[in-house]
Amino acid sequence: MAILEVKNLKKYFPVTGGIFLRRTGFVYALDDVSFIVNKGETLGIVGESGCGKTTLGRCIMGLYDPTDGKVIINGRDVSCLNSHKRKELSLNLQMIFQDPFESLDPRQTIKEILEEKYLIHGKRIGNLVPEISDLIKRVGLLPDTLSKFPHEFSGGQRQRIGIARAISLEPEIIICDEPVSALDVSVQSKILNLLLELQRILGLTYIFISHDLSVVKHVSDRIAVMYLGKIVEIANANDIYNNGQHPYTHALLSSIPVPDPESRRKRIVLKGEVPSVENPPLGCRFNTRCEQAQNICHEKEPSLFKNAKDPGHLTACHLFF
Ligand code: SF4
Repeated sequence: MAILEVKNLKKYFPVTGGIFLRRTGFVYALDDVSFIVNKGETLGIVGESGCGKTTLGRCIMGLYDPTDGKVIINGRDVSCLNSHKRKELSLNLQMIFQDPFESLDPRQTIKEILEEKYLIHGKRIGNLVPEISDLIKRVGLLPDTLSKFPHEFSGGQRQRIGIARAISLEPEIIICDEPVSALDVSVQSKILNLLLELQRILGLTYIFISHDLSVVKHVSDRIAVMYLGKIVEIANANDIYNNGQHPYTHALLSSIPVPDPESRRKRIVLKGEVPSVENPPLGCRFNTRCEQAQNICHEKEPSLFKNAKDPGHLTACHLFF
């Protein structure tokens, strides 16, 4: 059952210039993005920095107003709600940020940080300590955590506090925006395992945003690959990993280290830089870096098409259709 549906979502940021700061163009951060997320699943969103994945998370959260398109949560279009209704919605939709230190107020104790969440939303009153102590235990921290300040913790511990804050209001959906990319590799797997454990216990639905396909594959049921504001491939995580179709997906896959030296993948090094989202290439947006580009790729933008054998596997590439 779909808990979240994103329909033809667009987000264009105006670019201004000159002494009168006239609008000179747009940054096409998201351009016609559509997908659904089923209850209890994890949809991974992967792509290089600047591909629009964080903008997508922020549009779903209501932190950015979409230029066009819809965000439907539990059957309700939330993209046009006023701030009051958005506040109600935020009970059901929370975010875990990349940098836990920046998202925690350094002047507040952990107890105050966690209490604030309840108080802002008026969800609980009275003594919150038992509830907050339970939250802290649930994310693997000791009870004395509550009297300390954010600077007294390691990066991994701070991210655990961020996770405790995100689950405090018992949301159904959590957007994880690069939640482990600022952490040491040894800590990353512990945080990923904690997220998976909480999902199993609490029935959470995740949108997991990362630039690292190996991390996304570890936690996701399905994966959407983004390039320059568009989804170029979306499929079951195993299909992306074992049978990825889009040339950009192949390049991302080739950069994942393989532990077995016998089955080492050939590394595909993409030529050139990621083009500007202010002035994306005509036709397929990947055509400036794709070794398989043909004439049609410079003229016509490919749509997402279903794979004939697997309707859940969609790819936007002229080579396949
Ligand atoms: Fe490459 Fe053409 Fe496919 Fe784009 S449509 S990924 S340029 S082959």
